[in-house]
Amino acid sequence: MNTKQKIVILGAGESGVGSAILAQKKGFDVFVSDNGAIKEKYKEVLTKYKIAWEENGHTVSLIENAHEVIKSPGIADKVEIIKLLKEKNISIISEIEFAARYTNAKKICITGSNGKTTTTSLIYEMFKNAGLNVGLGGNIGKSFAWQVAENEYDYYVLELSSFQLDGMYNFKADVAILMNITPDHLDRYQYNFQNYIDSKMRVIQNMDKNGIFIFWNEDPVIIEEIKKRNLSGNDSPQLLPFSDETTFENGAFVKDENMIIKYLNTEFNMLKNDLALKGRHNAYNSMAAAATGLSQGINKKIIRESMERFEGVPHRLEEVLKIRDVLYINDSKSTNVNSAWYALESMKTPVVWIAGGVDKGNDYSMLHELVKQKVKLLICMGVDNTKLNQEFGEMTEIINVRSMEKALAAAYYYAEKGDTVLLSPACASFDLFENYEDRGNKFREGVKKL
Ligand code: ADP
Repeated sequence: MNTKQKIVILGAGESGVGSAILAQKKGFDVFVSDNGAIKEKYKEVLTKYKIAWEENGHTVSLIENAHEVIKSPGIADKVEIIKLLKEKNISIISEIEFAARYTNAKKICITGSNGKTTTTSLIYEMFKNAGLNVGLGGNIGKSFAWQVAENEYDYYVLELSSFQLDGMYNFKADVAILMNITPDHLDRYQYNFQNYIDSKMRVIQNMDKNGIFIFWNEDPVIIEEIKKRNLSGNDSPQLLPFSDETTFENGAFVKDENMIIKYLNTEFNMLKNDLALKGRHNAYNSMAAAATGLSQGINKKIIRESMERFEGVPHRLEEVLKIRDVLYINDSKSTNVNSAWYALESMKTPVVWIAGGVDKGNDYSMLHELVKQKVKLLICMGVDNTKLNQEFGEMTEIINVRSMEKALAAAYYYAEKGDTVLLSPACASFDLFENYEDRGNKFREGVKKL
């Protein structure tokens, strides 16, 4: 008789396959099941490790006898197999929860509606520059579980999405960084913003006084949650807020063109102008990263150099080319209204704005003022542009297109010397593109051909 405990992994993407390898290594009986087709590269890995798998459907009898299930963050709770497992009270966790059981590394965890990847990458670069033995994982790059199975890192810098946080229960971050909370992914949260907020706040669950909580002090949602949770007790994590409007005894802030970080008895400062990442939102990302570095004892010179040299992440306000004195910017990762707001806010010239795609229940009202002030032409690029037309039709000129090629042709034709052509869609991409990277790559390639 097989006495091993059975772990079933639902979804054979990066996180699922990583979990399978780790579970196998830890002596579980592992079965991987994917409702769709599994990518060739992952099939090869599973076969190499002699891990049982199935694709294009779930065989209930092979799943319902699991001791525990690790669910891919892409699978919604309303899916039949999840409902069934819940009825049977089988524990369902995320890859992050599972992998964390098998490492003693310090975990630096970044979440928020926007700015996660940028801040995560910046912190990771800084830790590497400091010579620390550090891994990068979560919602980015190679899965955390896979690394825990194969590496011995002292630190992990983890980007955490709300879907990952939903499957985390005993996980404890050493440093939690919460960039902001604005409505997103509401389709997975019963269209109830509070459910999504609660999910984001899980990043601080289980933390005690040894933990550090870094957060944006001007976010009304975060501040309200902190009040509710009474985070001033003796066993609460140390709070390190960041802001460009207030100063702190302990925290990150801006004063006379300087970015200043204070942590206990140490202070770090540098000219805001020397930050490699430009724009107000990126100043927040830099403050959060520098506060993390200082709190972990990273040398100030290394923090400064990392802040000065960071090259940014593709598809996030990425300057592609200047053609006939018109700058083309790829912000394809802007998949919600808030990130589009920051993109438009940081524009210093008249803008030809390419937006649209799959609307996730967007409320565009916060963009009205910026569109009136800065946008001379809105190019709506999507299968259904009705909402954008209704919303902005009276504020700016509009053209409707259904391809990147047509969007760029129109932009090239209309933009004048000194303008910026900005792709910052505020919407998901899958009506016309595979994903946001595909959309951004097509923009970049298209611009180069103009
Ligand atoms: P995430 O990983 O949370 O999606 P990214 O760093 O990939 O965040 O950035 C996503 C989008 O949000 C980009 O359009 C980027 O320019 C914008 N952005 C980056 N940082 C912030 C921030 N702190 N606040 C608001 N928007 C941001």
